Amino acid sequence: MKKQITLIFRCKSVKLNFVLLLQKSTPKLLIGFFYLFISSCSFHNTYIADHLIKKQIVKNTSEHSERNWLSDGKIHLITIGTGSPRADEKRMQTSTAIITDGNFLIFDAGSGTSIAAERQHLPMDQMNAIFITHFHSDHIADVPMMVNSSWRLGRKHNLPVLGPEGTIKVVDGINQFMSFDATYRHKNGDGNSSISFAKAIGKEIPTPNEKVKSLLFEGLNGLKVYCFTVSHSPVEPAFGYLIQHKGKSIVISGDTRKSENLEYFSENADILVHEAINKQILKKFLEVTVQYPDDTSMQIAATTAVRVMDYHSSPLDAAEIAQKANVKTLVYTHITPTLGPFLARTFITVPMFLEGVSNVYKGEVIIADDGFHYELNTR
Ligand SMILES: [Zn+2]
Ligand SMILES: [Zn+2]
Repeated sequence: MKKQITLIFRCKSVKLNFVLLLQKSTPKLLIGFFYLFISSCSFHNTYIADHLIKKQIVKNTSEHSERNWLSDGKIHLITIGTGSPRADEKRMQTSTAIITDGNFLIFDAGSGTSIAAERQHLPMDQMNAIFITHFHSDHIADVPMMVNSSWRLGRKHNLPVLGPEGTIKVVDGINQFMSFDATYRHKNGDGNSSISFAKAIGKEIPTPNEKVKSLLFEGLNGLKVYCFTVSHSPVEPAFGYLIQHKGKSIVISGDTRKSENLEYFSENADILVHEAINKQILKKFLEVTVQYPDDTSMQIAATTAVRVMDYHSSPLDAAEIAQKANVKTLVYTHITPTLGPFLARTFITVPMFLEGVSNVYKGEVIIADDGFHYELNTR
């Protein structure tokens, strides 16, 4: 004969009676039931839950130590997003930040950048400028949210968005696109900043000739940002950026084939942040997709893969540039395609990605993840 047990619970004012028949598996069921019941009904009203929630609110909302990066005398490079246009559960689309001496600069802002930047506790209200390398969506999709978030979180100065010819048109569109949101939030009293700062200020610069760099931005304490052309046709113009500050230099490639002009401006750079696509894996991708001639999505993906390989660089291309230019540290970003989960990454995709790189480049090599942080001492 099975035993019978009656359980009585009180959740707020509701009294619950449960009648259970005890069988062999009943102890485990009871434990599971208790766990679910306590977590859903009782625990949320306890002192511990209250304490944990308030602690998390402080952690998510208060000013963070990363604010110190603006004034600690170092140059901080953060790869906010390191992914490609394709969905990658570990990576947002491409974006890189440089923080130093009162300057907080963003280079590109693909989809997910604003979420990632907030998660990484970057000092959003201190953002000084956003630089665009070119207008592919994976480089600009989140510029509207970066402008909006930095304003909503307290930015009290104008935010220039700078880039190649076409930037003013893009920024006008961004301002129009976000205008309703800015009005609503302003009326609602969100944040504490003037609505005039909700709009970005577009600034564009004529395309410089090869081996000519154009000064695009002068930041605080002597920081300078130059643009130069890279090779990403049919996307034209496409810029790379050279950031110089206190004798240090950082180069950001944007999207490019192997580019002599990029090599020219990377001469003796401390850091080269270079895009890279793993052409070996994309070739395997083509070997698979060719077996499905009637599958439209496979064929579209295959066509894209072929085009992508043509106007991007391989890890080896970037390494050769870094070696010839005598770059000290090479940081790979815009990683295409995904490197996959830990085991695949460790034993298959990263070794494939880096194949031959150590033969041609003798400096430091880093495959950046989202939120990767690198410090350069300037003294
Ligand atoms: Zn791209
Ligand atoms: Zn591109």
